[in-house]
Amino acid sequence: MVQKLKQRREFFDSSLEKNPLQVDGRVFNYACPCCGYPALSVKAGYDYCFICGWEDDGQDDDTGINRKSSPNHGITLSEARKNFEKEHRSYLHTKEKKVFVELREHIIDLFESLKNIKDVNKEKNIIDSLNKSYKKYKRLLSLIKSQKDYNLLED
Ligand SMILES: [Zn+2]
Repeated sequence: MVQKLKQRREFFDSSLEKNPLQVDGRVFNYACPCCGYPALSVKAGYDYCFICGWEDDGQDDDTGINRKSSPNHGITLSEARKNFEKEHRSYLHTKEKKVFVELREHIIDLFESLKNIKDVNKEKNIIDSLNKSYKKYKRLLSLIKSQKDYNLLED
């Protein structure tokens, strides 16, 4: 379980170092300490991971993973990682709309397929799909905010 996360982080951190991921004008330089996917622009900068929802408050393996995190509903990184293994999100006590769940699973699949790419053209296709999905995700969020209808988050 933890091994998988470690491998994922190592893969994305080393590949991002050589070739930063740019999606919809944003550069994603860091793999998230909770889910291990490349969804953060800065390290320990209170960036919000758009995959698992963890807010990167600086907790990590080298700083300790058992401190309660107030930006993360008071849970620890250790708990958040276990939650991610179960449901692909860091915090389980909110309801989510199905469209978000599906979009997240789609983006995770795209990230996973990046791991097995040797053909540059295939990689370009995946990055194009990531751009589309990320834009869709941002549109959904701004729709919810503009309508101030947080029920849209729930089914
Ligand atoms: Zn994450």
